[in-house]
Amino acid sequence: MIIVNSEKLNQLNSISTNDLYILTDFDGTITKDNSDSSWSSIFKNPKVSKKFVNECIKIFNHYHKFEIDESLSIAKKNSIMNEWYRKNIETLINFNVTEEMINYASNNESIMDFRTGAVKFLEAMNNKNIPIIVISAGVGNIIEQFLIKNNCNYPNIYICSNFLEYENGIVKSVKDNNLIHPLNKNEVFLPENIKSKIENRSNIILLGNSISDIKMAEGNKNVFKLGFLDENIEERLQSFKDNYDIICTNNTGYDEIKKKVKILN
Ligand SMILES: [Mg+2]
Repeated sequence: MIIVNSEKLNQLNSISTNDLYILTDFDGTITKDNSDSSWSSIFKNPKVSKKFVNECIKIFNHYHKFEIDESLSIAKKNSIMNEWYRKNIETLINFNVTEEMINYASNNESIMDFRTGAVKFLEAMNNKNIPIIVISAGVGNIIEQFLIKNNCNYPNIYICSNFLEYENGIVKSVKDNNLIHPLNKNEVFLPENIKSKIENRSNIILLGNSISDIKMAEGNKNVFKLGFLDENIEERLQSFKDNYDIICTNNTGYDEIKKKVKILN
């Protein structure tokens, strides 16, 4: 199901592709809601220890409920998310997770799964020269490898995410010690080469699957927000309606979206 604010949709369909760029989340937005995320894909590797998997599941079960609780204050949620993501990185380091284990997910097709039509959508945006900036609290290395594997790591795509750094093939840190978690996507520092690609473009299509994803475009005008709502739909629908212009439920594919949002064709 797709719920649209028709006034906003008409505006969106009337803008020029030269005056547009896309800010998008990755996990659950470019991929399906029921796909493994770039984080959870790490423990699908048969070579990781049972102990590591149990620890990851324990951490996820403790923190994920706060992520989808729209009643928590932003400040409270921010500190909980920060704690969660620090713990994720610490766990990779403590369990000596290797580069090979990290790359496993992106090299195995059955783990992460694109939304229907997502690959074609990325291709179309590249053909139209519309920049796509992925801002993800996931694992940058996995996202990048996944796009490469699927022949869609196009030159118009820029990934801002948690890039793991290795020492002797073992995870040692996050690049620049710059941790992106679900609540600090407004603080992401875009490198100059990315900024220069978007400086003359004044319209943004934002794609996300949580309320906090709208932070990606904080402070910008002319933002058209499309939200994927696949979990706890009834409880979260009002809050999505308050924050997004277009709401897509039940694993809506990009081919469906393109029927309404013509500019994405
Ligand atoms: Mg997401």
